[in-house]
Amino acid sequence: MQELSRHNQNIRRKILVVDDELVNRRLLGFILGRDYDVIYAENGIEALDLIRNNERTLSLIMLDLLMPEMNGYELLEIIRNDANLKRIPVIVLTSEKSAEVKSLQLGAADFIPKPYDMPEVILARVQRLIELAEDNIIIHETETDDLTELYSKVFFFQYVKRHDRYYPDEQMDAVVLNVNRFHLINELYGRDTGDLVLRTLADCIRGLISDTNGLACRCESDSFYVYKPHSEDYDHIIKTFTDKLIEAIGFTNISIRCGIYSGVDISMNVEERFDTALVACSNLRGTYTSSFAYYDTDLHEKELFSERLVTEMDEALSQKQFKVFYQPKFDIRGDKPVLTSAEALIRWFHPELGMVSPGAFIPLFESNGLIQKLDQYVWKEAAVQIKAWKDKFGLVIPVSVNVSRVDICYPQLSEMLLDIVHSNGLEPNDYLLEITESAYTDNSSQIIDTVNKLRDLGFKVEMDDFGCGYSSLNMLAALPIDALKLDMRFIRNICENEKDRRMVKLMLDIAEFLGVPVIAEGVESKEQLDLLKQMKCDIIQGYYFSKPVAPDEFEKFIVDKKNSL
Ligand code: C2E
Ligand code: CA
Ligand code: CA
Repeated sequence: MQELSRHNQNIRRKILVVDDELVNRRLLGFILGRDYDVIYAENGIEALDLIRNNERTLSLIMLDLLMPEMNGYELLEIIRNDANLKRIPVIVLTSEKSAEVKSLQLGAADFIPKPYDMPEVILARVQRLIELAEDNIIIHETETDDLTELYSKVFFFQYVKRHDRYYPDEQMDAVVLNVNRFHLINELYGRDTGDLVLRTLADCIRGLISDTNGLACRCESDSFYVYKPHSEDYDHIIKTFTDKLIEAIGFTNISIRCGIYSGVDISMNVEERFDTALVACSNLRGTYTSSFAYYDTDLHEKELFSERLVTEMDEALSQKQFKVFYQPKFDIRGDKPVLTSAEALIRWFHPELGMVSPGAFIPLFESNGLIQKLDQYVWKEAAVQIKAWKDKFGLVIPVSVNVSRVDICYPQLSEMLLDIVHSNGLEPNDYLLEITESAYTDNSSQIIDTVNKLRDLGFKVEMDDFGCGYSSLNMLAALPIDALKLDMRFIRNICENEKDRRMVKLMLDIAEFLGVPVIAEGVESKEQLDLLKQMKCDIIQGYYFSKPVAPDEFEKFIVDKKNSL
């Protein structure tokens, strides 16, 4: 590539004058000689020789059209088709007006009529053309990446925007391509191989977008962005690219991953469109074979929703957007069901989103540890509530709270619970703890220690969601628990499904063997209730009796119980 600094006036540019007539050559030499180094040729063949020898330093060619041996048109054609030469601008010299169009079509940059009666005009045109050509080189250098000759990211984004202005109705895909473990290729096989991989992939991409309105750039190291008309054949595209890479470098453990945001929303800004494709691509991290993934709007919205819940939790707690609801549990062993206790279940009344169900935020907060804060809030609220009812009705309605597996790792768990209970004037056995069965199977020795400690302090522990974990009979026999809560899914079809019924029977037998009562959760109908009663289930919780309700509403169950005493 030509070495230059932008329009450096100290460098004398070199100009080639090609004309078969000596007088014309002399005249141009005279006009240009003061500012430029001028070299001369008498015909096309001689000229081509000089051009090739001065390829890197030649700034301009001034070309007569009618010459012996090889005329100007032929030479223009050769220059235009030569990748190295076509950057050199050519000014055509002729007296024929009709030649103008043809020479411009052949790639001439400008046209100077003979005779040369206005030297200042000639000098000005020459200077302008050289500057233009040099600017073009600078632009090309900054807008493309040296290694792959694809656009650089900044220019790529500009061209995408321009594309949208010209073709607002064309359906486009934003695509991100990465080489899997590219740094390892560099480390194991050397930088040259790494470069070859990138150039090969760039060639594949160029082939993919040629003949379309597609655009591409190398974004950074091994990451490529492609903006192309919508298509459905990414499976085939990725396979072809991989085959070409394998062929180029000669080993097979190379693969690419590709994230596609298909049919982009043109109102979204360009950077965001590619961020979106990146989201799809990052889901493929860790894959060892070539693969692609489409951006999934639903998934992304879910992620954004989760993100929002996480950032807003603290504020929501301080603004009391979280409310504890209570669902009654009824003892059905006697003639009439009797209220025995309640389960505290959290509700989030969000000022904009409305009621957010625990299913949306509990697993999320469990995964990032926020659940501890929330649970402690519920534990305190529940204790305050038990005390308030005790004072109001003279009855203790034990309340069970959920203890998630994250809480169990908290070293001061039992001290904290004891403090909550005592500071509300209650005893530990007024308070029930629900721990899901799967927590036991995750980390059995720690949880058994913790549960033993809690029970020694007087707390009652219920095993929640029983039947869904993988407790062995061995482990169950050794487990310190006070009740089993059957998982809802066995109850749902208990009347219709013989297998579920037998499962419940089995779990009831296990409970009998362990000597603990059984709570059936999710009981919605009279039929389910009757069946469970017949099967000797002890306690029922479910919509049949009541949904989880606010404390005020719950009081009617306490009043009923009081009246029947
Ligand atoms: P879980 O502990 O198994 O709670 C029982 C769930 O079943 C509750 O859902 C309850 O509303 C629902 N349910 C009760 N009876 C019926 C019924 O007859 N039919 C149906 N279809 N559903 C019934 P909820 O309140 O949406 O809570 C879902 C889960 O969220 C809970 O499952 C629990 O794992 C968790 N959770 C709720 N509150 C808390 C909390 O304060 N702390 C923690 N760690 N987890 C909580
Ligand atoms: Ca529960
Ligand atoms: Ca449960």
